[in-house]
Amino acid sequence: MTGKNTIGFNLSSDSKRTFQTFNPVTGNSNPTVFFEATFEEVNEAVSLAQNAFVQLKSISIEKRASFLIEIAQEINQLGDELIQMYCLESGLSEQRAITERSRTIFQLNSFAKEILNGEWIKASIDEADSTSTPIKPDLRKMMIGLGPVVVFGASNFPLAYSTAGGDTASALAAGCPVIVKSHPMHAGTGELVAQAITRAAKKTEMPNGIFSNLNAQGYEIGRHLVEHAGVRAVGFTGSLKGGRALFDLANQREFPIPVFAEMGSVNPIVIFPQILSEKLAKIASHLATSITNDAGQFCTKPGIVITTNSGFANQFVNELKLKVNEQVSFSMLNPSILQRFEERKKEILSCDNLNFFETEKLSGNNIGRQTIVVVDAKQFLSQQKLHDEAFGPLSIVVLCDDLGQLNSVLSSFDGQLTVSFFGTDSEIFANQHLIQQATEKAGRVIFNGVPTGVTVSPSMTHGGPFPATTDARFTAVGIDAMQRFLRPVTFQNCPQEMLPAELRNINSLSIPRRINGEWTSKDVHKKD
Ligand code: NAP
Repeated sequence: MTGKNTIGFNLSSDSKRTFQTFNPVTGNSNPTVFFEATFEEVNEAVSLAQNAFVQLKSISIEKRASFLIEIAQEINQLGDELIQMYCLESGLSEQRAITERSRTIFQLNSFAKEILNGEWIKASIDEADSTSTPIKPDLRKMMIGLGPVVVFGASNFPLAYSTAGGDTASALAAGCPVIVKSHPMHAGTGELVAQAITRAAKKTEMPNGIFSNLNAQGYEIGRHLVEHAGVRAVGFTGSLKGGRALFDLANQREFPIPVFAEMGSVNPIVIFPQILSEKLAKIASHLATSITNDAGQFCTKPGIVITTNSGFANQFVNELKLKVNEQVSFSMLNPSILQRFEERKKEILSCDNLNFFETEKLSGNNIGRQTIVVVDAKQFLSQQKLHDEAFGPLSIVVLCDDLGQLNSVLSSFDGQLTVSFFGTDSEIFANQHLIQQATEKAGRVIFNGVPTGVTVSPSMTHGGPFPATTDARFTAVGIDAMQRFLRPVTFQNCPQEMLPAELRNINSLSIPRRINGEWTSKDVHKKD
């Protein structure tokens, strides 16, 4: 462990500003001293990334895929050192670290497989037609990378949404060099992964600058990166406040760039009365685990549970409190995260006419007490402070007079990552208007299940309308995530020998292409 910045293939530590990571379980600082990047080091990383972007264009997709596979192997080979560092810096369990590592490796391998099949290129060829009026030119379109991408990871996923996480893997797959602004809470985990990526880049002969990893605590370096003229897009996972600030900054640039910010969500859970009467204990148990697992530090944690004031509502609330009380308490990721949780909880509890339950104060370090807040729908609707995310083990149960009021509560939410429904078949069918409303609000609508546990799969949407993300057209999880870092380009009447291989008459790459409107892997057979 060096504590240095990775700038292309070099390590660098020009700054006198340093920081250390923190072990939230022991309450002690970890030993490595990390050197913050300087503006000059940022400029160097961006300049190398710009050069690498040009060079990447002449590197085959097979080689790019082998780079991603090699990163996955190098991460795996970090073995226990990575797992131990992850646990030391996050306080999360070894099992969680292993699961997250598997997910990170799986993501990298999935993108490698995806880029080889060529569908993402969306190659499209419309041949010239001199007989049409007006005359149609020869048009050939494909997707290409945007250019250097800056990635900000979140505190709560040191691997899967961080240095080699979904944003980095999808940007590299799209042919974009990546500069990571390392998360200061897990800078050591970040450095180990950065070293793995650098080794993989050298082994697979990628250009110097395809990847950099910059240390920073505070906003200065991140802002400089987002404002840098050489940067073409930003991938961000974190708080609404942070994502919004960087989105605004990118739009104020002389040349605005897209910021794909994946932010928080309250993930409303709707429970219909019939299912509550039938499966009360099971639902309460399922929710309690989802609310408290890893101290509720998930963007998909159920933050608001909505049900009607049927005869079973009070019994359900009591059962939920009981189950929450039975769950293990975890140290939160960092004292500053705990402090933010406590402040947010105080804000919620200062609202009118609610009651709440908190688990006992435990003796461990940085433990946030698990909390269930109960409020009636009228009070909920009149107090905006109750509507936003509390990042930690807290959930609000909203009790409605009837399904009409439940509808009003659901419509009061802004964009969400998820909305979940617990209902019998007949309840689901009878309330299709609510499902429709959820489809308009969220990136994922879940039936009889909880939102935590985001499967990495082509059909997953991990996104949603603002403020869940800054661009509802995309997902941050699954192979479609790379679409964020691509743009279309059309060649009009371009000579064959000047065209990229993807668009020539002979389909040497054997990729699927839309020729004159029909999908095929065949060559273009000239009409004349
Ligand atoms: P955060 O405080 O927003 O920090 C994320 C990163 O952005 C850090 O590197 C931080 O730098 C930087 N940053 C934040 N505000 C900035 C600003 N104004 N200017 C420049 N840089 C800025 O988030 P976090 O506490 O690490 O993560 C927890 C949040 O992430 C929760 O809200 C959770 O719901 C969300 N999350 C969302 C997803 C998703 O996929 N939607 C997944 C996981 C987590 P410094 O730390 O150096 O200040």
